[in-house]
Amino acid sequence: MKFTNQKTFSVSISAILVVFAMSSTFLKFHPSTTESKANEAVVDRPHYQIEATYDDQNQVVKGKMKVDLPESRTEPQKEVYFHLYPNVFQNWKYNKESKPQKPGFIKIQNVKVDGNAVKQEVRNEIMKVSLPQELGKGKSARIEMDYTLQLPKGGTRLNTFKHTAFLAQWYPMLSVKDKEGWHNEPYTTVGDPFYTNMSDFDVTFHVPEGYQVISTAKDPITKKGGEIKLTQHQVRDFAAVITKDYQVVQGKSGNIQVNLWYLAGMDDVKEELHKAAVDGMKFFGERFGSYPYEEIDVVLGETGYGIAGMEYPGLVTSVPKAPSLKGEVPAVNVVAHELAHQWWYGVVGNNQAKEPWLDEGLTSFSEFLYMKKQKGENGDEWLKKVVTRTNQIHDSLHVHSAQKLYDYPDEVYGLMVYLRPTAMMFDLVGQIGEDKVMKIMSTYYQKFQYRTATTKDFIQVANEVSGKNLTSFFDQWLYFKANDSKNKKSAS
Ligand SMILES: [Zn+2]
Repeated sequence: MKFTNQKTFSVSISAILVVFAMSSTFLKFHPSTTESKANEAVVDRPHYQIEATYDDQNQVVKGKMKVDLPESRTEPQKEVYFHLYPNVFQNWKYNKESKPQKPGFIKIQNVKVDGNAVKQEVRNEIMKVSLPQELGKGKSARIEMDYTLQLPKGGTRLNTFKHTAFLAQWYPMLSVKDKEGWHNEPYTTVGDPFYTNMSDFDVTFHVPEGYQVISTAKDPITKKGGEIKLTQHQVRDFAAVITKDYQVVQGKSGNIQVNLWYLAGMDDVKEELHKAAVDGMKFFGERFGSYPYEEIDVVLGETGYGIAGMEYPGLVTSVPKAPSLKGEVPAVNVVAHELAHQWWYGVVGNNQAKEPWLDEGLTSFSEFLYMKKQKGENGDEWLKKVVTRTNQIHDSLHVHSAQKLYDYPDEVYGLMVYLRPTAMMFDLVGQIGEDKVMKIMSTYYQKFQYRTATTKDFIQVANEVSGKNLTSFFDQWLYFKANDSKNKKSAS
């Protein structure tokens, strides 16, 4: 995601955060081969089948979901967890500015495992489904359930407005179980706590007359009303917008279909932002490696209080305009940021709750690089200030740049997690050259595509590709190691 300059960032560093918001001023396509290569291997991804009916009178989605769990499993398991994110909109415990006008929630019924009814336990946004038998290695299982989703009005990400339903984290989402156990990390408003594995999705919507669906999958653009069938394999999430309000500008970036969706009153930005999306997909594809899907949708509008844009696989949101030193300008930098997330988050995953810098830092660097190369907007002076300010923040709050999402006070999150790593990557360009840094990014992309990478993985790729030991470079930038030893010396 990307922030706006709203009150989320006030407190003592308001000045630099205004400039943060103003970062807007400068601030090989082979899909069939990558897809088919991936599909030849044993499919070890969950497979979701969702049948969803939208009631536009009551803003309710009735869903029937089947999830086939993959066979790959390192140890037997007795239960499975799901995130029920819509429940955070029931009793809003976050800042009052982002409180929905009308609450939302999700109710689950008729849970079955391999056809047998089982009990589920729901605690706020987490549901535990107990398995009737321990699920061993090499054994699949089908979990079925019905759900009723009441959409909030004025919600963050998940939302309804006019004749539009914005479906983000709108179905029970499987928790990830890895070496560390189950990841049932809680929701937050500042930052993205959503950590998921690659999955396959077959989604059928039933929508009222006149409505169309914009989604993570390749969308049937002219189809309105009735049954709309969508399929997308090998993605981390499935987002959709059900709407009667949006119009589209279509185009191609190489073989990728690029759709920009806009509302009435956005005519003055639609062409420029569509061009930015076409150019952005080409720019990142050439540098990092090809985008492996057929389509990308950019949906303009408000994502929620304090959020300028948000990324989902194959679909991103952006505000139409962002503040700059020249006043409000078309939000090219927000579009570039969210599109770069298709590489860092979408294809190369990471645990966003545990190491948010890894996707946000690389994405922010990609955005700044795009703005510099394509728009001639140089962020060097601004990034120098970021370094000074983040050094001060580290000294006073003892946070570094590679911590958990929950460890940061809201007002320093963007500086520590987005901007200091951006400054780090430009410093690396200065030290080893841009070609080498691009080679690091493209190697990391190739090596970890469809997987979950860690900070350690990224540093290892950087060391291998550069032929240098850059560990102390990253230690200093991310963990402030040199600062701490310097402080220790001066104190002793
Ligand atoms: Zn982001």
